[in-house]
Amino acid sequence: MNDKKKIVLIALGGNALIQKGQEGTAEQQFENLKLPTRQIAKLSREYRLIITHGNGPQVGNLLLQQESCDEVPKMPLEIIGAMTQGQIGYMIESSLDAAFMEAEGSVDQHFVTLITYVVVDENDPGFQNPTKPIGPFYPEEKAKDLPYRMVKTDKGYRRVVASPKPIDIVEHREIKRLVDLDFIVICCGGGGIPVIRKERRFSGVEAVIDKDLASSVLAREIGVDIFLIATDTPGAAIHWGKPEEEMLGKVRLADMERYAKEGHFPAGSMGPKVEAVMEFNRATGNRGIICHLKDIEKAIAGEAGTEVL
Ligand code: ADP
Ligand code: MG
Repeated sequence: MNDKKKIVLIALGGNALIQKGQEGTAEQQFENLKLPTRQIAKLSREYRLIITHGNGPQVGNLLLQQESCDEVPKMPLEIIGAMTQGQIGYMIESSLDAAFMEAEGSVDQHFVTLITYVVVDENDPGFQNPTKPIGPFYPEEKAKDLPYRMVKTDKGYRRVVASPKPIDIVEHREIKRLVDLDFIVICCGGGGIPVIRKERRFSGVEAVIDKDLASSVLAREIGVDIFLIATDTPGAAIHWGKPEEEMLGKVRLADMERYAKEGHFPAGSMGPKVEAVMEFNRATGNRGIICHLKDIEKAIAGEAGTEVL
């Protein structure tokens, strides 16, 4: 058991696998993963690591594949979620393997990908008023025949599902045990598979969970030392996109709470990241960081990113 090294949880954003504008071939996803996995291989000398990741574009592609074919049965969202945890976990493990080989000439590190469930509340207000658009865009004629709740967007109609608040990562004890055994654990993919607990039984629900908020729950349940969210901006900015934009460096929790209240971080992009690191810091007093994917090592060294302290 190795309980001397600090534990870092790294949440990889969608662009760690598919960058904006890319179609998302397997080759592109493997190429993109070199950037974070090379840094993770180096960090593993000093830290125990947990990796979580998004799955939006991969879910979108699987939904499009199944909407394009009537010859095989369509799978519910909980199974689509499990499929993406498997495919992305495999891609991350195999990229880590290559990164360790490159850095060390051998792979002594063990990895494991864990299918992860996340408990949500069946009375979450999100279920009454679903807000999260997923999957392909449809023209109006097609949209009205589909058995889903739909929303109208600029690019056409889209299926919309609930995004309830994550409450508990069902496998958090197993994850901690694997980390203590020195495994790099890949888990909570896509925010986890949302389940509702009925007494002792779990059942999957048609919803998606924000991966930043789920990662924050896991970071608190495990009690990690550093929680880092890697995305495609150098951090969180106030006055984003305006001439007076200012990228935040080290920020006190109370100041970050005030910026959030003032509306600097929109729901659906920077909002949940900021909320995730604030909740983590509030509960643990530990470092919560938002940084660019290329700056993971620098941010852990305290030299990049927006850090709540
Ligand atoms: P991920 O896939 O990593 O979860 P998102 O696209 O959900 O990434 O969120 C990151 C995006 O948030 C950035 O690309 C940026 O366009 C947007 N964004 C919105 N507001 C801000 C802000 N205040 N500071 C920084 N980025 C912001
Ligand atoms: Mg996001």
